[in-house]
Amino acid sequence: MSVYQSPKSSNPVYALAFGAHPDDVELACAATMLKLHDEKKSVAICDLTEGEKGTRGTREIRQREAQEAASWLGITERINLNLGDTAFENTLENRNKIISVIRYFQPTVVFATQPEERHPDHIRASRLITEACFYAGLQKIETHWNNQPQTPHRPKHLLYYIQDRFAEPDVILDVSQTYEASRKAILAYKSQFFNPDSTEPETFISRKEFLEGLDAKARVFGEMIGAKYGEGFLIYRHLGIATFSDVFR
Ligand SMILES: [Zn+2]
Repeated sequence: MSVYQSPKSSNPVYALAFGAHPDDVELACAATMLKLHDEKKSVAICDLTEGEKGTRGTREIRQREAQEAASWLGITERINLNLGDTAFENTLENRNKIISVIRYFQPTVVFATQPEERHPDHIRASRLITEACFYAGLQKIETHWNNQPQTPHRPKHLLYYIQDRFAEPDVILDVSQTYEASRKAILAYKSQFFNPDSTEPETFISRKEFLEGLDAKARVFGEMIGAKYGEGFLIYRHLGIATFSDVFR
């Protein structure tokens, strides 16, 4: 199942990032992934589909690109559930597959697609991941990994990354130090983004302006916290703080 495993693969991981398609995690929060890696926090990625219905590229090309992107970001392991691009639904079977992945990696933090998005797959993915995060903690939902029964695990934090639909972030991470380097992971998806030599049809994300738009978004989020670049997230719960100085320093 795994499409990429780094030589330093670790389990459990600190963070698990889900995407509907290979490239979603990178487009929304590549610099956050790289920053976590620099802080020695292990990160895994789980793509729900192989993006095989995308206008550009092929299943095989996108798989190679996803591996390359993962290696740029120091991802410990990347899994693809192959649930069917444009076709997957929020079913018991699919929820259980995602629950298995959550229990396998036992993350403290999960990154998921935000609920309001341009692509319908992203909207369904958001709901599916949200439900799986909750159900993964229920003892009586039984799942297996390599034929072994799994123990329940509910991630402590669920953060939604802001991708195509602009949203007012609840938290913004300063990614000024990793933003430039993280672009290499996005450019690994050569089949998807601007390439003047491509003979394939133009898409929403293959326009030259699309990549410039990503930079502009990171600059706006950065500006909101007095940094050069930022990546924003939504959190649908109240954040409790143990000591005042944890945050207000
Ligand atoms: Zn996508």
